[in-house]
Amino acid sequence: MSSTFLVALGSNRRHHLYGLPRDVVHAAMEELSALGTVTARSPVISSAPMGAARRRFANAAALIESEYDPESMLAGLKWLESEFGRRGSRRWGDRVLDLDIVLWSGGVWRSRALTIPHQSFRERGFVLTPASAIAPDWRDPVSGQNVRQLKARLTRKATLPR
Ligand code: ATP
Ligand code: CA
Ligand code: CA
Repeated sequence: MSSTFLVALGSNRRHHLYGLPRDVVHAAMEELSALGTVTARSPVISSAPMGAARRRFANAAALIESEYDPESMLAGLKWLESEFGRRGSRRWGDRVLDLDIVLWSGGVWRSRALTIPHQSFRERGFVLTPASAIAPDWRDPVSGQNVRQLKARLTRKATLPR
């Protein structure tokens, strides 16, 4: 039985063949078809570095319909990251490609290696902006809010006077 995954893509390092981070993200969105049928691809946006990262990121989101269960999808995404030359980099550090599972049509998944929905996606404009371009009505099973509402809430928070 197939299910759908909302995957977030990020890059803030050049790739020796693909070039700039935005081109890495475009290439990765194509390569995702190794893991299933890619039914939607968002535009690529540029976002400020966070955590240990020093360079700006290119970010995007894609919808993949796949026969894989969540653990196999995670393994597939990690394989693709390594194909793009990512080597066990520090969490939030500079990296050529980061692929996270944000949402899954099966709902909630919690194991040692994998939490779906992704723990921090509700607080991240660089995830919610591309996600709302391709899946605005997808409802987060934890908060009960859809992607469009989560994005509006985050934008309100960011513009609130202190
Ligand atoms: P963040 O998860 O805050 O975006 P990160 O992407 O930089 O940080 P990584 O170093 O890429 O973190 O991944 C750390 C581990 O997180 C992975 O090895 C994976 O097992 C685990 N993980 C848990 N939930 C998810 C998820 N929904 N998608 C991808 N990886 C996940
Ligand atoms: Ca990430
Ligand atoms: Ca990751």
